[in-house]
Amino acid sequence: MRITDKLAAGQTLSFEIFPPKGEMPLEEAYRVASQIAENKPDWISVTYSAGGSGNSANTVPIAARIEGDLGVTALAHLTCMGATASDVDSYVDSLRAAGIQNALALRGDRRPGADVVDFAHASDLIAHLRKTAPSLCIGAACYPEGHVESASLDESMRALRIKQEAGADFLVSQLFFDNDDFYRFREQCLRYRIKLPVVAGIMPFTSVKQIQRMAFNCGASIPAKVVKRLVRAGDDPAAQAHAGIEYACEQICDLAENGVDGIHIYSMNHPEIARATHDALVAMGYLG
Ligand code: FAD
Repeated sequence: MRITDKLAAGQTLSFEIFPPKGEMPLEEAYRVASQIAENKPDWISVTYSAGGSGNSANTVPIAARIEGDLGVTALAHLTCMGATASDVDSYVDSLRAAGIQNALALRGDRRPGADVVDFAHASDLIAHLRKTAPSLCIGAACYPEGHVESASLDESMRALRIKQEAGADFLVSQLFFDNDDFYRFREQCLRYRIKLPVVAGIMPFTSVKQIQRMAFNCGASIPAKVVKRLVRAGDDPAAQAHAGIEYACEQICDLAENGVDGIHIYSMNHPEIARATHDALVAMGYLG
């Protein structure tokens, strides 16, 4: 099913997984996906690790298994940094063959050895997909605090407007820890006449180290209220993870009350985090 149809039907809940890294067998990703599917998500997205530590060749097989075996809609990510138009066309062919209707079109992070070939920006990839695969439901990334390479939020918003004009159907946000950043971003969308549904990306943090790494990589700011929770959790890993789930659930409930189009949980291949978040939301009366 197309994700835009799901978004039109009401608030959505979705989760993200990534293909196995290093020696981790592919079966491990299937196990993670099937455990996450028990939470009855609207979709599960599968990341694409161009040249990174993961294996991008596994994105479509995992997404195909999510659709075919688990009966859950899959969102297959795709990056274009260093890719040729023909690479992209082959990827789209494999999506078609697997019956996958949804793709998240991204530029990908800059990395050594991956120069721009046919696509400089995600918007170029989106325009290509719109032309060559008109029936594909295309998502794009957005950044409530601005993209790290952008000099200002305005610059980031102008780039987002170009993605909409290129033909994106919906947006999924970078993670953020302060809902006010997201609400300010929605106001900016109105100002820039960005009308696409926006799914809010939430990451239940699991440790001090992890939140520091994520904040550094994607430029998300860590508000004092999160630091206080972590200080209260002390050095106990279980208490830190509990604080992360509790905080994420508070963020989600507030977003749901404020009419967010959907919530996407960066569950980072931890089905237990996905389950704990799901169960906490049920206990709080936000899910049936
Ligand atoms: P772009 O939209 O191309 O933006 C990149 C920079 O260029 C921004 O600063 C933007 O303002 C600027 N820009 C964009 N268009 C123009 C233009 N026309 N003119 C001038 N400047 C412009 N990475 C992966 O490798 N694999 C994944 O699976 C993955 N999944 C992600 C999922 C989500 C929801 C998000 C938010 C990010 C994901 N990323 C992933 C990370 C992403 O690849 C990086 O954030 C990357 O740096 C930018 O990707 P983009 O698609 O937003 O690029």
